[in-house]
Amino acid sequence: MASRESLSDKFPIVYDEKSGLPLWKDLRELKLRYSLPISTLKKFFDGLTKGTLYGTRCRKCGEKSFPPKPRCPICGSQDVDWVEVDKEGTLLSYTVVNVKPESYQHYPDYIVGIAEAGNGFRILAWVKCDDPAKLKRGMRVTIEIGRREEENTLSYYIVPKT
Ligand SMILES: [Zn+2]
Repeated sequence: MASRESLSDKFPIVYDEKSGLPLWKDLRELKLRYSLPISTLKKFFDGLTKGTLYGTRCRKCGEKSFPPKPRCPICGSQDVDWVEVDKEGTLLSYTVVNVKPESYQHYPDYIVGIAEAGNGFRILAWVKCDDPAKLKRGMRVTIEIGRREEENTLSYYIVPKT
């Protein structure tokens, strides 16, 4: 049987600290493309195509989720109501992203923000604004549904009111 050293010298093999078992540690980065079942969230996507934003509200504890969650992230209940999210709201926070993750390299710098809708849902989304200096915490915003040009898919954006 080959010793640890002879394998580690010749291959990207490391040894698990707890078990001592050899692990292949790939040198290349993997890109994953995954598929997620969305049958429990179909109403959300149908809503977007009709210009309506839907979130969920837990019947047990009242937690509001956007994007919607078929299972409450707080109490675990699957007893949730679909609620139309108010598209008028307030900007709570924002940041300009100029160090982008690998999959967003093709975008110019962008702004991500959190808005609170009039009926209490919190929405994390890109902010459509050409100049971050125009943004202020607490300013009125609308949530707009629009097409992401690069991916040609529908999404939602925070848009400052002028
Ligand atoms: Zn709950």
